[in-house]
Amino acid sequence: MPDKGMLSLVGAGPGDPDLITVKGLRAIADADLILYDALVNKQLLDSNPVAEKHYVGKRKGQHAYSQSEINKLIVSNIQRGKHVVRLKGGDVSVFARAAEEIEYASFFGIQTQVIPGISSYSGIAAQHQIPLTRRCEYESIWVTTGHTCKGEISEDIKHAAQSSATIVILMGMTKIKDIQTELLKYKSEDYPVAIVQNGTLPNEKHHVTNLGNLVEDVLKHDLQSPALIIVGHAVVDNVCKLVSTTSIPQFV
Ligand code: SAH
Repeated sequence: MPDKGMLSLVGAGPGDPDLITVKGLRAIADADLILYDALVNKQLLDSNPVAEKHYVGKRKGQHAYSQSEINKLIVSNIQRGKHVVRLKGGDVSVFARAAEEIEYASFFGIQTQVIPGISSYSGIAAQHQIPLTRRCEYESIWVTTGHTCKGEISEDIKHAAQSSATIVILMGMTKIKDIQTELLKYKSEDYPVAIVQNGTLPNEKHHVTNLGNLVEDVLKHDLQSPALIIVGHAVVDNVCKLVSTTSIPQFV
């Protein structure tokens, strides 16, 4: 055990355990204690057989630990000289409450090492060959939550719907009807949407539809959380389509 404890916030990537960074894997191997969330692939924990491991994520809609309990668990263990790895799904800067943990630790004079991960929004889109941006066509990406801290749908969905951005909605499945209603105020019924559940994992399910059929198709295909809702022409404009054209694409 090191004389002086430390905190590493590590992004575990979108699901496939091979999609963590080398640096993240090294931090896991060096940890004395790993506090991990629901969306972390449990296979990653096997890469350190000796570390203590605590699940601190949500269970059936309830928190196993409150954020305040997690913060205290981090600090008390670091004060005992442990290297605590806080392992989170995707990237720690995207809907992961990293700032609260960094702030709390710094109040006790603890510096945090942050190791980036591949966020689900970009990793899953990339794996599906969905170009979230495309030169001269989709000039921005709007990554938002379907479920704010107050349990409502985000006002940002309304703003995003009025732009040409590719919209990626996380944590949106419980509000899918409200999301459809909001988007249809600004976009047409045939506007493309993809739902990807358990992206990059062997049990992945995905479906490409449009705004008009969104809720019906989610029910028909039994698509559930964790899932991404990707909205925009990018969804149907993938690299596969380019490859299948008869002439060689010209780029300027
Ligand atoms: N920090 C994470 C996001 C945490 S919020 C990141 O960077 O990806 C949790 C939400 O992320 C889920 O409700 C879901 O919308 C999305 N998500 C994370 N992993 C996913 C996966 N493998 N497949 C589909 N959606 C995923």
